[in-house]
Amino acid sequence: MNGSETTVLSVENLDITYTVDKKKIPAVRDVSFNIKAGETFGLVGESGSGKSTVAYSIMQYLASNGEISKGRILFCGEDLTKFGYKDLLKIRGKEMALVPQDPLTSLNPSHKVGDQVAEVLKIHTTLSDLEIKKRVIGIFEEVHIPMAEMSVDKYPHQISGGQQQRVLIAMAFCTNPKLLVMDEPTTGLDVTTQARILSLINKMKVKYNTAVLYITHDMGVVKNLCDRVAIIYAGEIVDEGNVEEVFENPAHPYTKSLMECIPSTFEDEDTKLKTIKGFLPNLGGFISSCIFAPRCKYVQKQCNEKIPPILNLSKTAKVKCFFKTLPKIEDEVLEKS
Ligand code: ATP
Ligand code: MG
Repeated sequence: MNGSETTVLSVENLDITYTVDKKKIPAVRDVSFNIKAGETFGLVGESGSGKSTVAYSIMQYLASNGEISKGRILFCGEDLTKFGYKDLLKIRGKEMALVPQDPLTSLNPSHKVGDQVAEVLKIHTTLSDLEIKKRVIGIFEEVHIPMAEMSVDKYPHQISGGQQQRVLIAMAFCTNPKLLVMDEPTTGLDVTTQARILSLINKMKVKYNTAVLYITHDMGVVKNLCDRVAIIYAGEIVDEGNVEEVFENPAHPYTKSLMECIPSTFEDEDTKLKTIKGFLPNLGGFISSCIFAPRCKYVQKQCNEKIPPILNLSKTAKVKCFFKTLPKIEDEVLEKS
């Protein structure tokens, strides 16, 4: 992270519900975090934990049955939840950009990749056509797309998956956005391509001082790429801190379990989260207790009776749990679970 202390994104007490068959599903609850310029913030959680819901709510791209029912999303101090459609059009793709999980669903198969990046510049800048053409080739070179001058004229299916991801990264960075939201952008890529893309994201972030929200299942990526990390479980952030803090001293029982599930060396190819025992809860009903209690090895009576508080562990770390120090439990229980 560089020296800038400007907070670019501030998510405050966010609740998001989806309506299905007239029933409200509280998919995200009381989520808060900040990201500063030049900082990479990792959001980690198992499938269905609400990562994309958070990402799409920031971009104001929630599905039509999704709704922000509480909270604010401040982008450079302004509440995006109050923005009208026209205001959003001005900043989406320019001031803040999204790199989605699947490049092929995001790239238009019938348009040349260079034209797709040019389109973003046409909408958001006053550059002439010639300047745009040069800029597109320049940014293709920056993201190491081979033979940039020729590649701009290719269609998405004519380039590799890694190159498609680079096109999306080029598209996201081409307007020098203040905030970049990346929703598992390297899923499905081989380890070498993934490493190259991560190094590219890092370089671009440093160059442009971008605030990055990086969503992943992969703890190895978090360790290598992120400055801070939040662990999301069933729609709630349960643990947050600097990457070193969370890795050295995982505070929440869920984070502890996640850490126990990853290989000891991050040189291993497979640093993805292994599943831990049990399942995410059904979010249909009213939540009045610790959401993780049914899977928690350290569960106590109060965990099933009340929602836990958020405890500050340091200036930078907090945990949503009744305990700063987890209660002692029998070794036998630990082994069995
Ligand atoms: P993954 O890692 O699989 O991408 P995720 O953490 O991104 O998962 P979300 O896609 O945000 O999870 O989903 C969070 C919860 O909201 C899940 O229970 C999911 O089934 C539900 N959900 C997501 N989109 C909708 C929708 N449009 N309508 C109803 N429920 C939804
Ligand atoms: Mg997702």
